[in-house]
Amino acid sequence: MNVAIMGAGLSGLACAITLEKYGVSPTIFEKRSRVGDRFVNGEALMSIFNRPITDDYAYLSESHGIFLQPLANISKMDFFSENRQATVTGHLGFINSRGREDESFESQLSRQVKSEIIFNSKYTYEELLQDFTHIIMATGDAAYALKIQNFQAELTVTLKGATVEGNFDRYHAAIWLDNNLAPKGYGFLLPYSEKEATLTIGYPDYPENQSLNEKPLWDRFYTKACKDLGQNLKITDQFEINNYIMGLCEHPRLGNTFFTGNCFGAMMPAFGFGQFSSILTGIFAASDLCGKGKYEELVKPLSQSYQNSLVLRNAMEQLDNHKLDNLVTLLNNKLSNHILTNQKLNPVKIASHILRPFFTKNNTPN
Ligand SMILES: Cc1cc2nc3c(=O)[nH]c(=O)nc-3n(C[C@H](O)[C@H](O)[C@H](O)COP(=O)(O)OP(=O)(O)OC[C@H]3O[C@@H](n4cnc5c(N)ncnc54)[C@H](O)[C@@H]3O)c2cc1C
Repeated sequence: MNVAIMGAGLSGLACAITLEKYGVSPTIFEKRSRVGDRFVNGEALMSIFNRPITDDYAYLSESHGIFLQPLANISKMDFFSENRQATVTGHLGFINSRGREDESFESQLSRQVKSEIIFNSKYTYEELLQDFTHIIMATGDAAYALKIQNFQAELTVTLKGATVEGNFDRYHAAIWLDNNLAPKGYGFLLPYSEKEATLTIGYPDYPENQSLNEKPLWDRFYTKACKDLGQNLKITDQFEINNYIMGLCEHPRLGNTFFTGNCFGAMMPAFGFGQFSSILTGIFAASDLCGKGKYEELVKPLSQSYQNSLVLRNAMEQLDNHKLDNLVTLLNNKLSNHILTNQKLNPVKIASHILRPFFTKNNTPN
């Protein structure tokens, strides 16, 4: 068996670590000049969405031998709508960094990989197919999966963000649900130290959003975030991603090619979380190659999470700012707080079961 991994990101590196554990040494092809050669940003692993797993880091190390350290755990989350605010406290998730830094997820994973990584790779999928028995498609986008008609794209989003300096409680994150700032989307603040945080908005590229100029949207979001947080945040770096594809592949494995991470459909449509599923798909592809299960079966719960998250997105898109105000008010209610913080309950699963009959497009979920 001769395995090529295309992409040294989360799913590709997790796959390599797992293959090595079983004695297989893959060749990793990375188009950039080093691991994590991209902007630095803070991202979250939201344990509340991955239940019944209650601690993603403990699960990855104990069940799969993948060792990662977060920057901080999230013990408090503020929700802001146009006119309302709610605070939820409890174990909600973790913050980690991405990109060039030493403690980023990519850097941490690459230190656990022994196999060769070929940087500045220009090899195409078609070329790798000539020389390898198996390909792990881990390029972080659905371009190839779309090209070979193995991907059901649901939507594309624009993500615009900045590193900001200010005073932060690093265990305290914030989310904005306000159509004036991010139409049918969301805004996030994720601190990665007491002094620095990532501020991001993400919204779908629907035709009605195309006419919106990104600059005024971002300015409005930034101004509102400064007001809600009661401080003047200083922008030190900025990034923007357009046409970021969310969807699900038709076949997780096609012949001897495995689709992992975003190529599989790891990005959850409701809030755009994809890190945990990406790492898991990498592990599962390697497990299949080493005779420890069938990839199509192992990823079924992840496809189901994707479908649940899609139902939630479809429902949330129907909410105008008045309803989002009501939703945020509800979060201050004891029952909703209990659902969000109870380790045994998965809020996305519960919400999707309730909402599915009303908000299913194409009748995909079952
Ligand atoms: C701005 C932003 C914020 C996000 N926030 C969160 C968050 O808070 N929580 C969360 O869970 N998820 C978040 N996500 C999603 C999460 O980052 C992704 O789901 C996850 O990184 C996907 O992992 P992957 O393995 O598919 O790809 P990646 O980790 O992106 O790795 C892909 C790798 O493939 C390389 N590559 C690309 N093309 C080629 C090629 N042709 N040949 C060789 N190599 C190639 C790339 O250079 C890269 O190194 C966010 C995404 C973005 C863009």
